[in-house]
Amino acid sequence: MTPSDPHRPGPDTLAGTAATHTPEGQTSTEPPIPPTLPQPRAQQVGYAVLGLGELTLDELLPAYATAGRSRLAAVVSDDHDKAVQSALAYGLSEADAYSYDTFEALAGRDDVQAVYIVLPNTLHREYTERAARIGKHVLCEKPLAGSVEDAEAMVRACRGAGVYLMTAYRCQYTPVHWRARDLVQSGELGAVKLIHAVNVQVEPDEGQWRLRRDLAGGGSLLDVGLYCINTVRFLLGTEPLEVTARTHSTPGDPRFTEVEESVSFQLAFPGGVLVSCSCSYGAAHARTLDVYGAQGRLSLDPAFDYTDLRLRVHTPDTITEHRLKESDQFTLEIDHFSRCIQERRGPFTPGEEGLQDERIMAAIYQSAREGRPVPLDEHPGRDVFRGAPPERPLMERA
Ligand code: NAD
Repeated sequence: MTPSDPHRPGPDTLAGTAATHTPEGQTSTEPPIPPTLPQPRAQQVGYAVLGLGELTLDELLPAYATAGRSRLAAVVSDDHDKAVQSALAYGLSEADAYSYDTFEALAGRDDVQAVYIVLPNTLHREYTERAARIGKHVLCEKPLAGSVEDAEAMVRACRGAGVYLMTAYRCQYTPVHWRARDLVQSGELGAVKLIHAVNVQVEPDEGQWRLRRDLAGGGSLLDVGLYCINTVRFLLGTEPLEVTARTHSTPGDPRFTEVEESVSFQLAFPGGVLVSCSCSYGAAHARTLDVYGAQGRLSLDPAFDYTDLRLRVHTPDTITEHRLKESDQFTLEIDHFSRCIQERRGPFTPGEEGLQDERIMAAIYQSAREGRPVPLDEHPGRDVFRGAPPERPLMERA
């Protein structure tokens, strides 16, 4: 992508304000852009959402209520009462509540064009393949799968069935991340030298699927470390050449008998950009990303939260805080996929984008196991795994 790309949201195209604080205290602002209207219901893309866990109930079902091109059409869960309750709460009927066993009945529902898979990681493959077989497009939560092999099978299944597969990387549909990408790629920070990214949280529950290898596929790397890898790749638009990594789990901690607690890893990108990332299930909540350029530093803190993301640019003379209009990240992501389905074009974060991260994570585990740097396949060019960028109006909707 070049700076003249018309799809590229830049400082003059995104809603929000940038406040620049010079030593003299000057500020500058950008005018807000008015919201667009939702489509009529009959035109919106209908979704069946699989899995009624925390993410679905707290974020995704409410996100459909504010979506422009997307509507909730069915829910799928093995908990019948919860499925019926959720369906009714969002204006659907009891008949719109399915179980995993009756999932294939969605084949007869012309008003359901897509499924959104929000299940434990290693179940993503089975439901993607089943959705593809009944001709439904698939939006799949991150990580795309529990392994490279599963992710490859998912991409193959959707290609073979002629349906779209999108990896649900909400951070690639968020105005603040686009602003950060623009600052990095426009050269405003000078040549990028170093990036540090951290995503850590305490995983308290010994009984939950995230700590079981058969359901999670891995530990903190697949769940939260993935954000560091994916956001750095998105900001730079290039692919890493080599990884070095180390993992650690506190001996005797019953939470980490199957999956790793912490991972520290380094990625070497083209042009000598050195990236250092850390993730953990044992450290108190922090999500930060810092880009160090020859002429300034960009800082996202928090970098990966659902709301209240904060972007600051530090130069020798100024600190600029970019205040962007907060839009629901999930709504933006879902509406992008709907637009792709409506216009018959591939999403910005297709299955291939999620598969590339699976390959990088596999190399990180390999490096930690073998105690040596692991080279990655070279992918010259920019945004080689991504489709056309999301549209400005979608990113600007409240
Ligand atoms: P959760 O534990 O809250 O919900 C999981 C759901 O899967 C539940 O409805 C559960 O009943 C169902 N399920 C079906 N079969 C299951 C089985 N065999 N074992 C356990 N649960 C089973 O999990 P969640 O936090 O909603 O995560 C679901 C997916 O969403 C994961 O892939 C996760 O990585 C992803 N996620 C993404 C984000 C994001 O910001 N994009 C945030 C949280 C979770």
